[in-house]
Amino acid sequence: MPSEFDIIRQYFTPSSISQTRDDVVLGIGDDAAILDISEHHQQHQLVQSVDTLVAGVHFPLETSPQDIAYKALAVNLSDMAAMGAEPAWFTLAITLPDADEKWLEAFSESLSIIAKQYNVQLIGGDTTNGPLCISITINGFVAAGKALTRHKAQVADKIYVSGTIGDAALALAAWQGQCSLREESIGYLQQRLNRPKPQIELGLLLSEYASSCIDISDGLIADLEHITDNSNVGATIILEKIPLSKEFNLNLTDDALIVPLVLSGGDDYELCFTIPLDKQTEFEKVAKGNNFKVTCIGEIESSKGVRCLFKNKEVEIQISGYKHFVD
Ligand code: ADP
Ligand code: MG
Repeated sequence: MPSEFDIIRQYFTPSSISQTRDDVVLGIGDDAAILDISEHHQQHQLVQSVDTLVAGVHFPLETSPQDIAYKALAVNLSDMAAMGAEPAWFTLAITLPDADEKWLEAFSESLSIIAKQYNVQLIGGDTTNGPLCISITINGFVAAGKALTRHKAQVADKIYVSGTIGDAALALAAWQGQCSLREESIGYLQQRLNRPKPQIELGLLLSEYASSCIDISDGLIADLEHITDNSNVGATIILEKIPLSKEFNLNLTDDALIVPLVLSGGDDYELCFTIPLDKQTEFEKVAKGNNFKVTCIGEIESSKGVRCLFKNKEVEIQISGYKHFVD
C-alpha cells in the first residue's frame, strides 16, 4: 500500500502536471509554493476561486477517474472564465477512500491532459483518507480593473448565453433513468456532462464588452438570478431563443422536460452574460469573427426577479437550481 508521500510523488508530481510554467519558483514538495508575480505586478490583479466535487453529490459514484479529474479542474477553470481571467496555477486537496493505484494513475493522467491544455500548473495540495472528495483552488490573472463580475448589469443590457443549454442536464436525467437517449447522441451528451469546456477565451473577450458574467453551474435561471440580485435589477428571457443542440432536440420527446432541463438544469458550464446595448453590434461582430457561439436570449429590466416567456406567456418556474442545504 503506497503512503501519502508515495502517492504525492508518483501521481501529483510528474513534470507534465507540476513543472509546466516558468513563473513557479517552487512547486510541490515544500510547505508552500512560491510564485513569481513580478511580471504581473501593477498591470494585473490576482483572481482566486475554490470548487469542491463530492462523490455522489457532484458526480455519480461510478464516474471514471478520468472524468472526475477532468471535471474537477474544468469547473474551476470555468470560474476563471466567468471572471474574464486567464488561469495560471492550482492546488489540489484530495480525500481518497483508499490508495487505489490504478484509479490514481487514470486520475493523474487525465488531470495532466486538461492542465496542459489550459496552461495551468499544479503547485501543491493535500492528500487525506476518507470519502472521495476533490477540492481545487485555482489562481489566475485579469488586467487591472477588467474582471467580470455579477453586480454591474444595467437595465436595458442584453442577456446572452454561450454554446447550447440543457445538454448536461439531459445526460444527467438519462443517467438517473428519467428518460432514455437515442444511441447516436449518447456520446455527445455524456461528454457535455462529464467534460464541460471552460470558456476561457470567450471570458477574455467578454472582459472588453460585458457588464456582468456568470458560468452556468446551477441552472440558467438560478445563475441569472445571481446576476440580477447582485445588480439590483430583474430580467426577462425568451424560451424560444435559448439555443439547444441538435442532440438535445433529437431526444426531447416530452416538452414538459424543457423547463426543468433548460431553465433549471445545471452543469453546462456555459457563460451567461450581459452586454450594454451600445456595444451589442460590435460584440456580435467580434464574437462571430472569432467563432464564438453566443445567443441573445433576453434583456435586463428594472422589475426584480427573472421571468421567462414562451409564446409571449410567462412560464411557471418551480425548480430553481440545485441547493446543497434545503430549507
Ligand atoms: P504539509 O504537511 O507541510 O502540509 P504535506 O505532507 O501535506 O505537507 O504535502 C507535502 C507536499 O506535497 C506539499 O508541497 C503539498 O503542497 C504537496 N501535496 C500534497 N498533496 C498534494 C496533492 N494532492 N496534489 C499536489 N500536491 C500535493
Ligand atoms: Mg498538508
